[in-house]
Amino acid sequence: MDRQQEFVLRTVEERDIRFIRLWFTDVLGILKSVAVAPAELEAAFSEGIGFDGSAIEGLTRVYEADMIAKPDPSTFQILPWRGERHGTARMFCDLLTPDGEPSLADSRTVLKRALSKAADQGFTFYTHPEVEFYLFDAPADPALPLVPVDQGGYFDHVPRGTAHDFRRAAITMLESMGISVEFSHHEAGPGQNEIDLRYADALTTADNIMTFRTVVKEVALEQGVFASFMPKPLADQPGSGMHTHLSLFQGDRNAFHEAGGHLELSKTARSFIAGLLKHAAEITAVTNQFVNSYKRLWGGAEAPSYICWGHNNRSALVRVPMYKPGKGNSSRIEYRAVDSATNPYLAYALLLTAGLKGVEEGYELPEGAEDDVWELTDAERRALGIEPLPTSLDAAISIMEKSELVAETLGEHVFDYFLRNKRQEWEEYRSQVTPYELRRFLPVL
Ligand code: GLU
Ligand code: MG
Ligand code: MG
Repeated sequence: MDRQQEFVLRTVEERDIRFIRLWFTDVLGILKSVAVAPAELEAAFSEGIGFDGSAIEGLTRVYEADMIAKPDPSTFQILPWRGERHGTARMFCDLLTPDGEPSLADSRTVLKRALSKAADQGFTFYTHPEVEFYLFDAPADPALPLVPVDQGGYFDHVPRGTAHDFRRAAITMLESMGISVEFSHHEAGPGQNEIDLRYADALTTADNIMTFRTVVKEVALEQGVFASFMPKPLADQPGSGMHTHLSLFQGDRNAFHEAGGHLELSKTARSFIAGLLKHAAEITAVTNQFVNSYKRLWGGAEAPSYICWGHNNRSALVRVPMYKPGKGNSSRIEYRAVDSATNPYLAYALLLTAGLKGVEEGYELPEGAEDDVWELTDAERRALGIEPLPTSLDAAISIMEKSELVAETLGEHVFDYFLRNKRQEWEEYRSQVTPYELRRFLPVL
């Protein structure tokens, strides 16, 4: 037993923890949880806890249904919303096959594999997500129109507003679980909020995003409202993105920074951006995985639709934020396509691999976009070599299917499962006859 495991066992005893929830994430990014009693913990650390994986999206094929969850003691945290007495704690798990091999179906393992490849080249990958979400009056009955909790807008201070109390409660809870929050504010849509998590290595951030979604849902329940990370819940309001700031470090040096370079960006940063741009269309089915995601990407309101980069250009897919001279370690780039409903483990694995591919192959960075790319005509965009992102889940899947980079990064099992699941989602969606069609066509046809 190592020191971290001993620390967990001691804390469980001292703090009178009665349940330990073992958390893991399915292929679509939905959090799963199995609770064990403290007495089971030692065995969980040494052998893991067996469970039937066949009922969980994408975890196993039917003929290999057994799965083992092995908790990562470094992720131990007490869940504040379960109360002080007889408390509950959680740990994220890695999934293993019955013979102890890393499971090919585990998203966390996919990200760990990508991170360890980067580490072989001397790089650590840091991410900093800006998570947007909506708060609606509860209960949210999908048959009724959604009612946002307020009519606030960007950076609004809503006096006695629900969102204000909400952010305060959510942030207090996150910080008590060791998750630092950098900024929070009201976003542009009514009832829309944003909370930005402090940058950390990508595995920690991905775990933190899973915790974040749970905390936000829990606090909403507590306050009698309903929180949603759906990419575009309201047709005529902004969608919820999860812009992510990315940087590569070599030791404690920011590999994206070069004093005196254009925008203080190093060659590594330039090739990394080039990699992201070149492979953006291939990874979109993962960064934007639901039919609804494309209503955000193509719905304006500062969500990116075209593949280009720019300095402080909010219409670009990749933005290089204002740099602070003399603050080299803060050099980073922002990838704006990702939405708040993505599986963060898979999305970060793909962003890293796409960027690193650019670095490995020395891709040249195309000219940056100075203009608002939405305002250009198709011909102008073509002349600048600016391609669109996929316009639907269907288009995104067709591009992903042919991608070696995505197949290699996700591994065959996750790749096949994901595509199968998404084809099915598309077919189901395509076969709907919507209220829009009835309204539009029934009277005249
Ligand atoms: N809500 C916008 C999006 O969907 C982003 C707004 C912002 O720039 O923060 O990407
Ligand atoms: Mg925002
Ligand atoms: Mg942003």
